[in-house]
Amino acid sequence: MNSEKPNLTGARSQRQRKKAVDPAVRVQELRELIRRHEHAYYVLDEPAVSDAEYDALFLELRRIEEERPDLLTTDSPTQRVGGEASDQFAKVRHRSPMLSLQNAFDEAEIRAFDKRVRAAVGEKVVYCAELKIDGLAMSLTYAKGRLQRAATRGDGTVGEDVTANVRTIRSVPLSVTPAKGLPDLFEVRGEVYFPIAGFEKLNREMEAAGKPRFVNPRNTAAGSVRQIDPNVTASRDLQTFMYTLDPAGPARSQWDVLNTLDQMGFRVNRNRRRLKSIDEVIDYHADWQRRRHELEYEIDGMVVKVDGFAQQLELGFVARSPRWAIAFKYAPEQAETEVEKIDCYVGRTGVLTPVAHVKPVIVGGVTIKNVTMHNEAQVNEKGVYVGARVMIHRAGDVIPEIVSVKDPKPGWRMPTKCPVCGGEVVREEPYIAHRCINPFCGAQRLERLRHFAAVMDIEGLGYATLTQVIDRGVVEDPSDLYGMSKDQVIQLEGFADKSAQNLVDRIAASRRPDLWRFLYALGIPQVGEATAQLLAAEFGSIDSLREATEEDLQRIEGVGPNMAGEVRRYFQGHGAELVQKLIAAGVEPQAAEAVGDGPFAGKTFVFTGTLETMSRPDAEALVRKLGGKPAGSVSAKTDFVVAGPGAGSKLERAQKLKLTILDEEQFKALLPK
Ligand code: NAD
Repeated sequence: MNSEKPNLTGARSQRQRKKAVDPAVRVQELRELIRRHEHAYYVLDEPAVSDAEYDALFLELRRIEEERPDLLTTDSPTQRVGGEASDQFAKVRHRSPMLSLQNAFDEAEIRAFDKRVRAAVGEKVVYCAELKIDGLAMSLTYAKGRLQRAATRGDGTVGEDVTANVRTIRSVPLSVTPAKGLPDLFEVRGEVYFPIAGFEKLNREMEAAGKPRFVNPRNTAAGSVRQIDPNVTASRDLQTFMYTLDPAGPARSQWDVLNTLDQMGFRVNRNRRRLKSIDEVIDYHADWQRRRHELEYEIDGMVVKVDGFAQQLELGFVARSPRWAIAFKYAPEQAETEVEKIDCYVGRTGVLTPVAHVKPVIVGGVTIKNVTMHNEAQVNEKGVYVGARVMIHRAGDVIPEIVSVKDPKPGWRMPTKCPVCGGEVVREEPYIAHRCINPFCGAQRLERLRHFAAVMDIEGLGYATLTQVIDRGVVEDPSDLYGMSKDQVIQLEGFADKSAQNLVDRIAASRRPDLWRFLYALGIPQVGEATAQLLAAEFGSIDSLREATEEDLQRIEGVGPNMAGEVRRYFQGHGAELVQKLIAAGVEPQAAEAVGDGPFAGKTFVFTGTLETMSRPDAEALVRKLGGKPAGSVSAKTDFVVAGPGAGSKLERAQKLKLTILDEEQFKALLPK
């Protein structure tokens, strides 16, 4: 574990520890902290720190105890399992202790485990690898095939009786036919968890009711099982996976146990494998690390167990865990850190996006330093401020996000002046975002040029090059790119004769873009790729779009008043000049539809309402293929209106204009056989 990470929870950096306190004092301090965190986690179901922080404290304590065995005490958290049983429930003494697992956080640690195993039982070892479900451990006792009792793990020796609640979980069989060889009384153990979809649904309901969101599925599952009212548990859609059978009856290995449980009707995870070497285990673990987000539940690693019972027996136990199993963990996807600064990034349309700069922290295997937030309102809804301790989440390729703030405080304000150009920052109703309204703002200019280059597919024109050409006064707007000479490019850092020629050639090659691409590249506020395609399909040329009124624009399905206003303003304002300059520089946007000579040549179709046998884009593509033109709005020039169920104002307008109206069947009858 990285000991140089931010010191948020009492975890000390190596440097601090070296010159620091007497280990005897630190051990006391750590035990106290860990006990407090365990109480919050296991009893209150409200962790005070992230798992990674807790693990760091635990590891530090274990290391000191290993170095100084004289400091080890029997009541140290390293010597016992999990939490404690709450007084809310009747206490249950487990027939055999419910243990915890040793952990491996990386390849070296899992190889060390394998080495210890082989040193003890010889070279022939088979491992049973199972997903480590991030839920809570549950013990189910069956007597003569009937569920008699369900208990949480508690401190491993004494748990809580949660039978009434667990009976509401549908995948827990209330009665089973015991496998051959099982005694009248047997116990099944496994995990109760909250499926991700159910968790998200619950949070949506909480939000709708104006209540705070739950932090994570694991603690919410634990909280749901430990409810006083079983109806609450029943409403939560909990799930289970079982993995232990005690006694094991006819089973001779963990693999047999899983199959036996499966046959008896328990829910058993299918993603399991018997593997003959630690290399195979490492590969399987890496494979699931990549695919973990395909699962409908959270996992925090893989549990690797020596498969054969004879070998398990030989290996035995240490204080709180078996020697024959280990949890091979994944990098945590949540971590806590501190906000050091909040500033703003200015985008191409002048929108200011707040960015929280945090003390670097590893989340999901990647170091995170900045977290983007949407706007001022979002910063304040979350209560983020400089100095706040925040929990950051990042899963797979997902952009990091602040999920919660300790002691949230609203009140952060957007700057009133643009951080780049000093221009005025305003919030124009109805938008939530704040915008720098200086059209000459340097940040906007750079972002606009970068957007133009990316959309027009001009490779090799990144931020570094653009910054240089702007600074040298060679380029002010996209039209200047087309006037740039090879000699001017050679002067720039990072260019030689050939690369300069290549760039000039690539810019020249972008002179005949599709109309939609050109529109999108202009960076008109509110016009993304899809809208640009709509506009191009509807208007067919830059000239007719320039002339379009707001009313014309709003007639297109998918274009609302805000967007129509923005497009209009753009072409009335500085956009008109830019388009003129681009055309003068030799850029020729290509009309969206080359009117074909198919059977629909010269005919305009408008689709409205629902089509039953094909999607609207498919139907429009078909019209195009046959030489016709699909349009978004009805006018006197429309030849056919194809109306399905739910058709509204367009149908009315078509009726008023006495146009030819077809239903889907009639439209299909027009298609060539
Ligand atoms: P553990 O979670 O590391 O592993 C043991 C548990 O894994 C078992 O009890 C079982 O419930 C579960 N498990 C899931 N799938 C399994 C499978 N296929 N086979 C066997 N077991 C399986 O150990 P732990 O002692 O339960 O808890 C430690 C964990 O709790 C750590 O991740 C720690 O970070 C977290 N914790 C966090 C805080 C906090 O304050 N944030 C406090 C205490 C504990």
